[in-house]
Amino acid sequence: MIFKLMGKHQHYNWGGADFIPTWLKLENNNGQPYAEYWLGAHRSAPSLVEFEQKWLPLDRLLDTAPELLGDEGRAKFGNELPYLLKILDVKLPLSIQLHPTKSQAEQGFLQEEQQGVPLTASHRTYKDRNHKPEMMIALSDFWLLHGFKPLTQIIQDLQNIASLAPLAERIQHQGLPKVYAEIMQADQPQLEQWLLPIIEQYRPDYQQGKLSLNQAEYWVLYTLEAMDIPLTKLDAGLLCFYLFNIVHLEKGEGIYQGAGLPHAYLRGQNIELMAASDNVIRGGLTPKYVDIPALLNIIDYSEVVPKIIPCYHPEQQESNLFLYPTPLAQDFALQRLDFKAFSEERFTSSSASILLVMEGSLYLDLGNNAIHLKQGESVFISANTQVESIGEQNGYAVVATLP
Ligand SMILES: [Zn+2]
Repeated sequence: MIFKLMGKHQHYNWGGADFIPTWLKLENNNGQPYAEYWLGAHRSAPSLVEFEQKWLPLDRLLDTAPELLGDEGRAKFGNELPYLLKILDVKLPLSIQLHPTKSQAEQGFLQEEQQGVPLTASHRTYKDRNHKPEMMIALSDFWLLHGFKPLTQIIQDLQNIASLAPLAERIQHQGLPKVYAEIMQADQPQLEQWLLPIIEQYRPDYQQGKLSLNQAEYWVLYTLEAMDIPLTKLDAGLLCFYLFNIVHLEKGEGIYQGAGLPHAYLRGQNIELMAASDNVIRGGLTPKYVDIPALLNIIDYSEVVPKIIPCYHPEQQESNLFLYPTPLAQDFALQRLDFKAFSEERFTSSSASILLVMEGSLYLDLGNNAIHLKQGESVFISANTQVESIGEQNGYAVVATLP
């Protein structure tokens, strides 16, 4: 079965006011931020499905008719849709964050339940029992922090900055975890000692547009400005630009982030597909609740060399349905369906899927009728459904499904 689907918006203040409204053809006269558009069945913001001319929350439909998820999916993930598909517009940098493994999430959720922390409390960390690996495909030039750099690189980069050179020395003697814990818990005078010389030295070049976006100093100054951080209230997260990989994705490229990997989205728009969870442990650059002990408990200090998911090249493909390679993902897989006017594509979705039209328009032939989908419109497809799509206006859709 195929149901028309309508997502939910999240108006977090780091979001841009234009990208998502323009893409969805919504009016946004008062300039409200549109940070995220969610498609899925997460209990905190389920999408709506059209059923007998009414709109129902997708989680409720799946509660009543779990067979729509298919036997294979239910055997692995129970009666839940295991993934969440999002469109993001990152105008201001997001917090430095990481996501727990499944067992950490189960433990953390239980603990907070036992302590009686309400689910909606601002200091609540675990909103559900699930892990949250995630992948993303850039819709524009996209910048992010992604995992700790190789140690030799961290030491070299710190040694190049006079005020940070003592940190390089200490990492060599005491190891990264101990020094990182101290950085994250440093007081204001200490942060000033590390950061003010950098800010003073590089500000003129920053203002004249002379810094490269691959440079930590650019992002220190940009973040101060974008997040309006006063010099008297510096954030330990600013030091992370020297510790983590600064990654640039070109439009169409992607990246996968597993549990425990520290990361932060800095700028750009993307498609995100993740396990259905809202568990975020924050480590700086945010006015939201920051739980440093929880962060230090589960952060992954491994040296990371970013693996970019390559851009999709239609001319190199035999089929119009392309699977983005994410070998580590268990809870989700992302496909891209390219279409031209009048082109037909037939496929069977073996597990429950969400199809979202990113550009152009198509229709799904249901035999006795059809569902027309324009840019930004989507459907929920139950497991083992044969899909027949016919292009109307050239474009492409993404399909979230199980591997
Ligand atoms: Zn994340």
